[in-house]
Amino acid sequence: MGQQAHTECTLAAAVGFSGLGLHSGAPVTMRLVPAPAGSGIVFRRTDLDNFEIPANGRNVARVSYATSLMRQGVLISTTEHLLSALIGYGVDNVIVEIDNLEVPILDGSALPYVDAFESVGIKRQRRRREYLRILKPVEVTENSKDGVKFIGVYPGKGYGIDYRIDFPAPIGSSRFLGDLQTGAYADLIAPARTFGFREDEATLRNMGLIRGADDTCAIIIGAGQVQNGPLRFADEFVRHKVLDLIGDLALAGRRIQGRVVAERAGHAMHTALVSKLLKDRSAWELAHDFDEEPAAVRSASLGFGAAVPA
Ligand SMILES: [Zn+2]
Repeated sequence: MGQQAHTECTLAAAVGFSGLGLHSGAPVTMRLVPAPAGSGIVFRRTDLDNFEIPANGRNVARVSYATSLMRQGVLISTTEHLLSALIGYGVDNVIVEIDNLEVPILDGSALPYVDAFESVGIKRQRRRREYLRILKPVEVTENSKDGVKFIGVYPGKGYGIDYRIDFPAPIGSSRFLGDLQTGAYADLIAPARTFGFREDEATLRNMGLIRGADDTCAIIIGAGQVQNGPLRFADEFVRHKVLDLIGDLALAGRRIQGRVVAERAGHAMHTALVSKLLKDRSAWELAHDFDEEPAAVRSASLGFGAAVPA
């Protein structure tokens, strides 16, 4: 394989979604519209005179349970699953027309997006895709009362991801290794749903943080068990963290060429890494060529989706 040049892509036709925002409970209708090469991903609030918010690191807003964008006081909340689907599937340019402040949660995964992309198809554009190639390590570490959280990005071929999580039962410790460049996102990452603990539900509801939640938009865990199985993957939880990571790193504005290592991280750590990376101009360069691992090395060492002991 070696070095490959790729061109940008958009959707071949518009696709629509409707549902509730997980956090706000707001009913929302959203349409993804093809956009010219070089546009990037741009949200357009159709309820606010088509006010536009580009999906990039400059517009990242407060981040706790979800990642949000804000420009001049106008918010788009819970962008991570949609952005993950776009970057993971390889859609560079799209206008996201949305008539409320939060992206709909749908089934809590990126599968509805990927299904829609497959139904209309992808249109290849003539402009060469630009990658953000990592030149030196950038790391963020946080010592919290429940242990060390870590995320770092390193030079490397492909777009490698190594994610470890450690949660109470039944999730436990788990690790996922993969390379996004293999094109396996649609099968191995997109279907993985978000998850929540029944014991946190009352608190989160009282705080107004899950007004749009029900048992169809997340894996619910209670009394040490999955309450609304079956799981889509035995390790669905860590795969969902990878889904979130890809969506949050999309805010770097370009697909990363390098290797990302995360341990017990979350939206705040993911976006902190994006900010630190973008500020350190010596840590990356923009590149048109994508250095891939040779296919044989990729399947041996990265084995996207391979079960790895934590
Ligand atoms: Zn998520």
